[in-house]
Amino acid sequence: MRTGDRERYDVVVVGSGFGALFFLDRFIRARPKARIVVLEWGAANSHEWQINNQKNSTIAPADAHVQVPDQKPWNYTIGLGGGTNCWFGQSPRLHPSDFALLTKYGVGRDWPVTYDDLEPYYLEAETIMSISGAEEMARILPRSGPFPQPPHRVTAIDRMMMRAQPDRHVPIATARARVATQDRSRCCATARCNLCPVDAKFTALNGFKHVLSHPGITWRFGVRAVAIEHSAATATGVRCAKDGREEVVDGDLIVLGANAIHSPAILLQSDLGAPKAGLGVTEQLGFEVEVLLDGLDNFDGSTITTGLNFSLYDGEFRREHGAALLFFENRWSHGLRKDYGRWRQTLPIIIAVENLPLDSYSVALNGEQQPVVDHGAFSDYAVRGLQAALDKIEQVLQPLPVERIVLRGERPTESHIQCSLPMGDDAEYSTVDRAQVHHKIRNLIVVGSAVFPTCPPANPSLTVAALSLRAADMLTRSA
Ligand SMILES: Cc1cc2nc3c(=O)[nH]c(=O)nc-3n(C[C@H](O)[C@H](O)[C@H](O)COP(=O)(O)OP(=O)(O)OC[C@H]3O[C@@H](n4cnc5c(N)ncnc54)[C@H](O)[C@@H]3O)c2cc1C
Ligand code: SF4
Repeated sequence: MRTGDRERYDVVVVGSGFGALFFLDRFIRARPKARIVVLEWGAANSHEWQINNQKNSTIAPADAHVQVPDQKPWNYTIGLGGGTNCWFGQSPRLHPSDFALLTKYGVGRDWPVTYDDLEPYYLEAETIMSISGAEEMARILPRSGPFPQPPHRVTAIDRMMMRAQPDRHVPIATARARVATQDRSRCCATARCNLCPVDAKFTALNGFKHVLSHPGITWRFGVRAVAIEHSAATATGVRCAKDGREEVVDGDLIVLGANAIHSPAILLQSDLGAPKAGLGVTEQLGFEVEVLLDGLDNFDGSTITTGLNFSLYDGEFRREHGAALLFFENRWSHGLRKDYGRWRQTLPIIIAVENLPLDSYSVALNGEQQPVVDHGAFSDYAVRGLQAALDKIEQVLQPLPVERIVLRGERPTESHIQCSLPMGDDAEYSTVDRAQVHHKIRNLIVVGSAVFPTCPPANPSLTVAALSLRAADMLTRSA
């Protein structure tokens, strides 16, 4: 693998998070003999290390990119497994309309893939992660097969909502195990999922052992990719830094799976940023309310979030304002109630509102070549979406004995960075095509949430996984 003092591989993969690992899972099934190297900036921190140290990585996001003062923080894990370590395991699919926002509602962009294109890969990703969910979900998000795991036990609140709104309120789809698997314990609702004490949620460490131990893959840790080397419209390798020294790892195919901040930064360093790299980086607008209930107890569900309500998710209103997804929480984020004997009569709800990836949002490089994320105010579309959700929430909660709704305020971050290297058919507006291949450099593939063309309300990672399986499938079937 070494020619002169340079290493050469069939495939060089940057990063080892959701995008990279789901791509690899599918790729090595089709090409088991390929010689692959993964360049990972962080360390391989075991579950035990993470629990003992009460963190996912030694490299904090605030040290890995530059934050514009007084703007929202961005949250991610640098290390083997990337976001699979810190994520909470909320795993809804996107809605079919999310893929056709422009065609249906004249807003934003269409994705170059449809829900139907992605459906088999959604199913495959759900199988790999052993997702728990209920068949009722298919009324909203059509599916061609059952969930691998049964649904979690919902709360009495969810049961009341489901009876009144069977087409809108459903048990959550989640990678937190309902029943123990060979590698994971059953989720017991301890509600600190970024550091799950019992290893109940899917992570790279418990779910991708076959990828991590594959004989064809070389793992290099503490190696930060800096730029893609290229000539004559062909990527030739990855320039990277380790222990203060720079080196180049050569490869025939480059898969860029750093996150939605660092992947655009690497393309900008490579002079491959034009025209869109970094622009549009965003996430949902998150808000929290606490619903005080009269005589109805919460916290009898079997996992941290038990219900999803889609009442405000899709409809003609999306011409005017963003969609909202409501998460019914089985945790006392605002403490128990103080009133004697009514401690559990409280329901925290998270409202996640769709945002538009405005061109005024950016990842750019400063003088030291560090990524600077500049995300000003949320779009008017998102702000109107939140207002509409707050205006309508009482109506949505009509089946419940609501005493009072307390506005708890905007959440600092949803931890869902996306949209900085969108996929699309038009090279003027996108960085990669519908197969996630760079428009100009045809042996460069980008994976991860960076490729989302829009920012719907649902959590992104299941869609990242499905897109990566599809990208690897398209590549290996075409070549
Ligand atoms: C606390 C928290 C909770 C979350 N909960 C959920 C949830 O419940 N549901 C959900 O859908 N999503 C959730 N997310 C979001 C989820 O983590 C991301 O959507 C997902 O990880 C994005 O996948 P990715 O492949 O784009 O990036 P990542 O998974 O972050 O992977 C990027 C990889 O690249 C590596 N890397 C970065 N830069 C470089 C470089 N220069 N050189 C080499 N390697 C590099 C990183 O170390 C990492 O391994 C959560 C995130 C956080 C932080
Ligand atoms: S709710 Fe508790 S047991 Fe379940 S995944 Fe989260 S931390 Fe783990």
